[in-house]
Amino acid sequence: MSTLEIKGLVASVAGKQILNGIDLVVRSGEVHAVMGPNGAGKSTLSAVVMGKPGYEVHAGEVLLDGVDLLAMPAWQRAQAGLHLVLQYPSEVPGVGLADMLAEAYRARGRSTDDLVTDVAAEAERINFPVALLDRSLNVDLSGGEKKRNETLQLALLQPKIAILDELDSGLDIDALRDCARRVEAATNETGLGVLAITHYNRLLEELHPDHVHILVKGRIVASGGPELADQLERDGYEAFSGGEAADETAATSALDDLFAI
Ligand code: ADP
Ligand code: MG
Repeated sequence: MSTLEIKGLVASVAGKQILNGIDLVVRSGEVHAVMGPNGAGKSTLSAVVMGKPGYEVHAGEVLLDGVDLLAMPAWQRAQAGLHLVLQYPSEVPGVGLADMLAEAYRARGRSTDDLVTDVAAEAERINFPVALLDRSLNVDLSGGEKKRNETLQLALLQPKIAILDELDSGLDIDALRDCARRVEAATNETGLGVLAITHYNRLLEELHPDHVHILVKGRIVASGGPELADQLERDGYEAFSGGEAADETAATSALDDLFAI
């Protein structure tokens, strides 16, 4: 049983405060959805929790099973059991998937004896074409293939807690269903705890959240059960933010999404 605790997290990037005091607790087997409009700070939250360089934490704590993650570089957080599925997965020319996974297994003290068989089995399960397994990481993959590839890594590495930053961005409906179902299965099979960041309901039709939180301007303005996502679908973000949901960055963020894949 693992617990990720985010307490009073205040953080900035490039001199601008983006997170204004975030409190969240994710336990093994739970799915928490964080929903918010463009520019709300969703990706910033995932970056700060995972330890992407360039962000400044001013207050608060991030603990995994009581261990202070903020004191660790990203790779140590990963070894401790935290995993981030990026909104826009990076291409890494020259590094093959199997090589990367073998390194990650070794770093976790796991044997690589069954790695090739495991990768093949997982690729079949997530409908990732076996022919693409030899490519460099994410290089020349479509949006859907990249997310299947990321989900495959998540399934094999079996972290304690996974943050999914818009798993649903840039992939078609079939890939979305396969990836969401695989993550859902991991919550049951290995007790994965999930923080699923999204601004659409459609992800949550496949990956069923136990808790839904609404993030507006770096604050969680509402928390509840799955019904909160339905209410959001009906009423929009403005109902939760006194008409202030639209951020000045919304237009650029929307363009980013459009050209992402
Ligand atoms: P979301 O993922 O909810 O769309 P982000 O966390 O990406 O929002 O961005 C939140 C705010 O932080 C936006 O106003 C964005 O422009 C700003 N921001 C994010 N990253 C940077 C950066 N590296 N430099 C400057 N501003 C940034
Ligand atoms: Mg984002």
